[in-house]
Amino acid sequence: MIDSHCHLDCIDGADQPARVQELLDRAAAHGVHGMLCISITLGNAAPRHLAASYDPVWATVGIHPCHADEEPAVSVDQLCTLAAAPKVIALGETGLDGYHQPVTDLQRASFIAHLQAGDALGLPIVVHTREAREETIALIAQYGSASQTGVLHCFTETWEMAKAALDLGYYISMSGIVSFPKATNVHEVCRKIPADRLLIETDAPWLAPVPYRGKTNEPAFVSHVAEAVARLRGTAVETIAEQTTENFERLFGVGRR
Ligand SMILES: [Zn+2]
Repeated sequence: MIDSHCHLDCIDGADQPARVQELLDRAAAHGVHGMLCISITLGNAAPRHLAASYDPVWATVGIHPCHADEEPAVSVDQLCTLAAAPKVIALGETGLDGYHQPVTDLQRASFIAHLQAGDALGLPIVVHTREAREETIALIAQYGSASQTGVLHCFTETWEMAKAALDLGYYISMSGIVSFPKATNVHEVCRKIPADRLLIETDAPWLAPVPYRGKTNEPAFVSHVAEAVARLRGTAVETIAEQTTENFERLFGVGRR
């Protein structure tokens, strides 16, 4: 299976090749043969370096909405230039976050630049969305590509929002939160997502699934996310692994590993 969203470079020790190899080996031992390392700022080239250096790793280029004020002058051209690096398969994570602070104009401008760059390059968008449901959907509808969609990652919002995103062609990704007993709204969404639009992720090093809750997360643990999703959907974990891998390959335009 594939971890569709991790911050491999943010895991302690990931600046050491031996540590990265240990994480990749443990992932492979859990049946995880690919992972998408997500960019938080453009200034940090580590995701791109990891993708260039390690076969199972792909990378994105983008600015997390909670860091939009650190790179306020981001342009479509700049995103397009950086996205030409090897094995960059998406833009993001970008989006709107109204949880940590009210949504800012810098977040909006940055999100729009990512959507426009994705349209120009034909690359999907990895969207972070929290407490900004209507505006996130409205910006995707207005500025997103008609042919190239993306994913709402670590989804914790309402089914109504998920439905609106699905109607725009987007995929929905489940993180370790789906394994938390009290996350009943996420369980509801998980049961309803069409099989061909479902992705799984760790968001490592954060949000470790049960039974590692509170510990450092890593790509290997996406296998536990798959198990939780399978239980909720009343299907086999192998089916979830197969479906989410196919979905990842279709959305991001990569071949079978
Ligand atoms: Zn993330």
